[in-house]
Amino acid sequence: MHHLACIHCGAKYPPDEVIYSCRACGHPLEVRYPLDRLGIERAEWAKRPLSVWRYREILPVHIQPVTLREGGTPLYHLDALGKEMGLPHLYAKHEGMNPSGSFKDRGMTVGVSMALQLGKRSVACASTGNTSASLAMYAAKAGIPSVVLLPSGKVALGKVAQALIHGARAITIRGNFDRALELVQELCDKHGLYLLNSMNPYRLEGQKTIGFEILDQLGYVPDRIVLPVGNAGNISAIHKGLRELRELGFIDRLPMMTGIQAEGSAPVVRAVQENLPEVIPEAHPETVATAIRIGAPVNAEKALRAIRETGGTAISVSDAEILSMQRALASREGIGVEPASAASVAGVKKLVAAGVIGRDERVVCVVTGHLLKDPETVVKQCEPPQEIEPDLPSLLSALRL
Ligand SMILES: *Cc1c(COP(=O)(O)O)cnc(C)c1O
Ligand SMILES: [Zn+2]
Repeated sequence: MHHLACIHCGAKYPPDEVIYSCRACGHPLEVRYPLDRLGIERAEWAKRPLSVWRYREILPVHIQPVTLREGGTPLYHLDALGKEMGLPHLYAKHEGMNPSGSFKDRGMTVGVSMALQLGKRSVACASTGNTSASLAMYAAKAGIPSVVLLPSGKVALGKVAQALIHGARAITIRGNFDRALELVQELCDKHGLYLLNSMNPYRLEGQKTIGFEILDQLGYVPDRIVLPVGNAGNISAIHKGLRELRELGFIDRLPMMTGIQAEGSAPVVRAVQENLPEVIPEAHPETVATAIRIGAPVNAEKALRAIRETGGTAISVSDAEILSMQRALASREGIGVEPASAASVAGVKKLVAAGVIGRDERVVCVVTGHLLKDPETVVKQCEPPQEIEPDLPSLLSALRL
């Protein structure tokens, strides 16, 4: 059986306690398993479908999980863009191919299952969009109510549509994501809803399976895994999962964990580059990549460890670089992602140019969410289709044939 432990002071908590941070010191918690006693066979995993639940021995869920078949997402070799950057071993793990269109589903299949396992009958989150879309979907599947708090005017259209149609009680606040998160924490504390933001250590357990799948798909440990960073839960989750595989003796080294943020919202990058002991929150985060428009990342402490312990790094990219890479992925690789996701590949391009990433490195970018999440940002950048009279001469003339 697993337990919860504080990553700072080591205090332990039983697995059935509903707790989101250490009562003794306030720092984040993580889930720990008696890895040496679980008797996991890697060959056994290989027989199961590629999905979050392939790895169920190192997940905390013991009931029948609430699942919509999450995970098992494609890993694409980036032929054209890799060639252009001089990186022959460049890959993208397309997490937009999950049921709701983002990696949040991996966290929510585990998180909503844990809500039921812990006897909770309602769930809530604050969200820049994708967390709410995913929570609404999994709560619908579980047949329990969900409440989602969104920053007014800053959530992409597709994500709002999902939260609404899947039946969440959606509330927008006149404030940013960071404020929405403070509010939902108070709500959950006082009214017993189960909180499914990424300070919930069980949610991150689902997300760690991105790293497991990358290893299983490649057949080796890549030199580097690159992610967009908002609340910094995902980069922390993948690092934690890979540490567990190392402890199990399945791998002998870890990839360099590398985080990419938007220039207007880059507190983790600043901490890494200035070698600060902790992240200083950014009061007014701003970027077109709304999924990473977060000034006070709740998993900053875990993320700094992930980056520092693996010899990784963090850099920021401009909104123009993000949008340009979104277009390049779509038009040259056939991979449609939302702006935040393109940040990871834009970051790689910059790190190669700066000589930080070597040409022979094997690099996997996690592209986190689907293009259709944010159609408005796309339409604003593209020429609209040309409208013509409905006859062949007009068509030929428009096509210059
Ligand atoms: C949530 C999200 C992120 C940021 O992930 P964190 O775990 O908060 O760092 C990046 N991209 C997309 C599309 C997301 O939905
Ligand atoms: Zn503690």
